[in-house]
Amino acid sequence: MSESSRLYREALKLIPGGVNSPVRACRTVGREPLFVSHGRGAYIWDADGKKYIDFVSSWGPLILGHAHPEIVAAVTRAAEKGSSFGAPHEAETRLAELINRLMPGLEMVRLVSSGTEAAMSAVRLARGATGRDKILKFTGCYHGHADSLLVAAGSGLATFSLPGSLGVPKCLAGLTVTCPYNDPESLKTLLARTGDSLAAVIVEVAAGNMGLVPPKPEFLDVLKDLKRYGILLIADEVITGFRVGLKGAQHYYGLSPELTVLGKIIGGGLPLAAFGGRKELMELLAPLGGVYQAGTLSGNPPAVAAGLKTLEILAENPDIYPKTASLNDIWTSGLGELAKVKGCPHYLTKLESMSTIFFTEGPVFDLSSASKSDLNFYGAYFRAMSDEGIWLAPSQFETAFLSAAFTESIVSEALDKAKKAFQKI
Ligand SMILES: *Cc1c(COP(=O)(O)O)cnc(C)c1O
Repeated sequence: MSESSRLYREALKLIPGGVNSPVRACRTVGREPLFVSHGRGAYIWDADGKKYIDFVSSWGPLILGHAHPEIVAAVTRAAEKGSSFGAPHEAETRLAELINRLMPGLEMVRLVSSGTEAAMSAVRLARGATGRDKILKFTGCYHGHADSLLVAAGSGLATFSLPGSLGVPKCLAGLTVTCPYNDPESLKTLLARTGDSLAAVIVEVAAGNMGLVPPKPEFLDVLKDLKRYGILLIADEVITGFRVGLKGAQHYYGLSPELTVLGKIIGGGLPLAAFGGRKELMELLAPLGGVYQAGTLSGNPPAVAAGLKTLEILAENPDIYPKTASLNDIWTSGLGELAKVKGCPHYLTKLESMSTIFFTEGPVFDLSSASKSDLNFYGAYFRAMSDEGIWLAPSQFETAFLSAAFTESIVSEALDKAKKAFQKI
């Protein structure tokens, strides 16, 4: 038995499914989860010493690759001075300042510890600000696992074919109106019918949790027009923030949301997330206003140090973005070529350093078109790729990420491996 299998069996006895987040289980692709021993740059090694080129990047945060020396040093320095005080410290303001400089729509920022917390808090703030209870989310968009947001939520739920979660009270789920992503007509109809009862529309500006699905311009046009209903737009940029350029997907697509949710990259691999927006709105939060939100470890020094160092490196080296995007072009077009040679239907989506290969003719523009993918084929693809040493998300409904640690030679190494994998499927 491999060491990874042995560790998995041990974990199964004490941790449900052996994993602390269900998307890590590889059940739907017919494998056991990978127990990782360490990572460096674009690579991870499993507990048996096998090396993989990593396209998961901890599901998005590691835009600079694993164990980046400057981030490791920043975290170490911070931890040596004390890991949490339950009192403010200067670096929190420096991080808020840098976020504000890069994304000026976030006039004020509150730091939290996970994307779930950030999205949940932004929704509460929107409800508090508007005095309305209902929110609208799009089918296949994931905003963390808070009750109100765990409706038609993509990601792990799509992977396991779950419509929602047990344990979410009907009355709460009933306050979440859902609409297909990228469907301007349905959205207009819903807005006409329920617009004045909605506190917020929350959206992944480019969806990354049904696989990567970029927004259509006609869809964005409707999102730009929510003000007349008094609805606040919440842009969930937990994946796309500092991934789709330094100013986020909102700048890329010309949206001006009232509230923005950030996570993943802004924590540099540590638990840190944030939400922010206009000053008047953010000042409704306690202790200034009546919307309560709190956190024992919010803004703790090691997480802030990791996030701050990550954003500093990105801000000082903006060429990281075009560079990873062009490597991603090479990777995705190579992958498309291999799929074509194999003769399997496929549809590629790509945005900067993100991509998904859907095993369907396409086009893929929402969850139902993504769901036409051949999931058995994805499973075979995943297994063949991991045998060759390429680590992908163990689900068709996820996004592959390139990090700045990728080089041309790593991409061609990955394409060589992918070629062998496709031959074996
Ligand atoms: C990952 C993710 C979240 C949740 O973040 P966690 O840190 O896992 O709680 C929210 N929204 C989007 C778009 C995400 O991809």
